[in-house]
Amino acid sequence: MNFKNVTVAGSGVLGYQIAFQTAFHGFKVSVYDINDEVLGKAKAKFAELSECYKRDLNASQAQLDNTFNNLSYHSNLAEAVQDADLVIEAVPEDVAIKTAFYNQLREVAPAKTVFATNTSTLLPSQFRDLTGRPEKFLALHFANMIWVNNMAEIMGHDTTDKQVFDDLVQFAKAIGMVALPIYKEQPGHLLNSMLVPFLISALDLWVREVSQPESIDRAWMKSFGSPKGPFAILDIIGINTVYNVAKLHAETNPLMHPLMQKLENEFIQPGHLGMSTGKGFYTYPNPAYDAADFLK
Ligand code: NAD
Repeated sequence: MNFKNVTVAGSGVLGYQIAFQTAFHGFKVSVYDINDEVLGKAKAKFAELSECYKRDLNASQAQLDNTFNNLSYHSNLAEAVQDADLVIEAVPEDVAIKTAFYNQLREVAPAKTVFATNTSTLLPSQFRDLTGRPEKFLALHFANMIWVNNMAEIMGHDTTDKQVFDDLVQFAKAIGMVALPIYKEQPGHLLNSMLVPFLISALDLWVREVSQPESIDRAWMKSFGSPKGPFAILDIIGINTVYNVAKLHAETNPLMHPLMQKLENEFIQPGHLGMSTGKGFYTYPNPAYDAADFLK
């Protein structure tokens, strides 16, 4: 692996975390976003993030100073990628936006640059032909709260170069991730391929009034020593996202229609969107599943 300079495109929910984590591990990182105002917001979020690194990782002030020294900010794409060995794309999960981005990136990036997409639901083969370098293009997928949920799923398409794939596995490790190589294209990568059917099964039990969320969670927690059950996880993901995923599955799964209706009436309309709003299936900051007697 010969990566030194990394450009992260998009400084939203995931992009700014990827940029900071990469800079924290000694790489030079160019943060690219559409304008200086958005970049200003990213700078403010980096300051907040550094407090999380102190609290959760015991990061020293010297490490954080180095991290900030490794970051630069750009609203001009050609300038942002001029020395890039790797571009990590974290622009919105919208095919039209990603298409426009790769059309532009292809024109300005050096031939050597590897492109990696952080897409959660799309496949790299969908954008392969736009990159001008299909063999140097693949998915590198991170999880939210990257500094503690430190795993990265690496997934190529059928013409990704094996060496490039292996380099990305090494890069993921070099920035502190547990690297999870995926050998066949799979919508949802590894985690979401398992998690989405699991959560849908739990929601189905609730919608059909087979049981209540606390009992369904207890069944899971008690059996596997898990600190959280499916409804606690749904609160973390957020009910809006859950609703949007249900909508995606509605064409092929008729169970989604009563689910969407129930989520709409009981959660979305009253504004109970999960952990972020203080109420979802549980109430926060002290949800019942964290209480010592929840499993008694
Ligand atoms: P977001 O909407 O929070 O951030 C996207 C950023 O991209 C914004 O700052 C926006 O200004 C910027 N942007 C828009 N158009 C751009 C362009 N043409 N060039 C550069 N920047 C542009 O989105 P997000 O939640 O960070 O998601 C980004 C990607 O990461 C998506 O592909 C998503 O699937 C993936 N992802 C998200 C999560 C999550 O929990 N949010 C987790 C894993 C992966």
